[in-house]
Amino acid sequence: MDTFRDFKRYADQLAETARWAAGKGWAPATSTNYSVRLPDEAAPAICAITASGVDKEHLDPADVVAIDSDGRPMNGHPLKPSAETFLHLMLYRRENMGAVLHTHSVAGALLSRSAEAVGHLTLSGWELLKGLDGIDRHDCEVRLPIFPNSQDIAGLAALIEPCLPRSEPCYGFLLAGHGLYVWGKDLSDAKRHLEVFEYLLQCEREVRSHGHNTGA
Ligand SMILES: [Zn+2]
Repeated sequence: MDTFRDFKRYADQLAETARWAAGKGWAPATSTNYSVRLPDEAAPAICAITASGVDKEHLDPADVVAIDSDGRPMNGHPLKPSAETFLHLMLYRRENMGAVLHTHSVAGALLSRSAEAVGHLTLSGWELLKGLDGIDRHDCEVRLPIFPNSQDIAGLAALIEPCLPRSEPCYGFLLAGHGLYVWGKDLSDAKRHLEVFEYLLQCEREVRSHGHNTGA
């Protein structure tokens, strides 16, 4: 997109974030997707999002596409936006949503399946919870909702949107057997939240696999 002069800066930062997540082992094969909200001057573009089917470990800024509120690439961009674009667009209708990051880690896939019947995962007692916006103690409870997976992404977005809390902090959700969505008020916030949740999912997985169930 060439009508928005700062686009390259946003694309650079998003590509770097995608490569970082892939380097952590959270983006096997060509899975996962990442987006950042664009400023008003980029309208009608809403966000920049990684293209579908690209190996995230080698993601180039040229693999980042600006899209409008219907998920259409701007300026006839030839790359196809992520298959999960409608989940990102649904999240950008929420307040203070600056970036959305989605990973496919082993811990996220396993825990989201084992706790699917409960409908959420509760994280508590971990020092790293303090890495989440607005949390300053370990002995609190943070809930990650879990939704059933689906290949109908628009339908999934419609199902999830009314279920996400608006009056209390909500940092992300899990799709069962699939992966994790997290967000933040800007890209660095979202990146920190992603690192916190992936770390905590690993901790929970270890605890549960050793028979010390902390409760779903
Ligand atoms: Zn996915």
